[in-house]
Amino acid sequence: MARYTGPSCRLCRREGMKLYLKGDRCYSDKCAVDRRGYAPGQHGQGRRKLSEYGIQLREKQKAKRIYGVLERQFRKYYKMAEKMKGVTGENLLQLLERRLDNVVYRLGLASSRAEARQLVRHGHFQVNGRKVNIPSYLVDVGDVITVKEKSRNSKRIKELVERAQDRTVPDWLQIDYEKLEGKVIELPTKEHIDIPIEEHLIVEFYSR
Ligand code: SF4
Repeated sequence: MARYTGPSCRLCRREGMKLYLKGDRCYSDKCAVDRRGYAPGQHGQGRRKLSEYGIQLREKQKAKRIYGVLERQFRKYYKMAEKMKGVTGENLLQLLERRLDNVVYRLGLASSRAEARQLVRHGHFQVNGRKVNIPSYLVDVGDVITVKEKSRNSKRIKELVERAQDRTVPDWLQIDYEKLEGKVIELPTKEHIDIPIEEHLIVEFYSR
């Protein structure tokens, strides 16, 4: 499964905002956006005025980068969103939120979506009692996500669970930290999703 392996902070600097791709570092004074809040590269500090196309493109890139999805898969989500009932842009965000790696992150069981993706790939989670190691797995209402029995004693998982208690889980999910069991209560709607994305710009981008 392909994924971006270049420097994450460069992506935030390109988008001109924190995308929280690196977990703890993003909250420290080492954050590259706080230190060098201009775009990377030779002309990064120059003034730039974006065209309409540029604005739409940046919005799409931002969403892809936040969720760690490459173009081909992102386009696939867009096609799926178009076929679903309702507003395409909101459907797209919902599909991205329903990815298992995002759900693990939202439940507080990883410090970033990248870490969640790795933990899922390494087989630390089960969905409805069955091992699922596919980060793009789409959860549904009623799905129960648990930390695999064998992984419960892992030092990193213990550390994450301890810290997770202070985090707020979105209303569409529920977690029991004693049982290490998360549940999907309802599908996420635009109101549940707190990321700074104007999804209508992405729809305009793909509708050109
Ligand atoms: Fe982005 Fe985090 Fe790097 Fe800051 S530390 S630039 S938020 S990935």
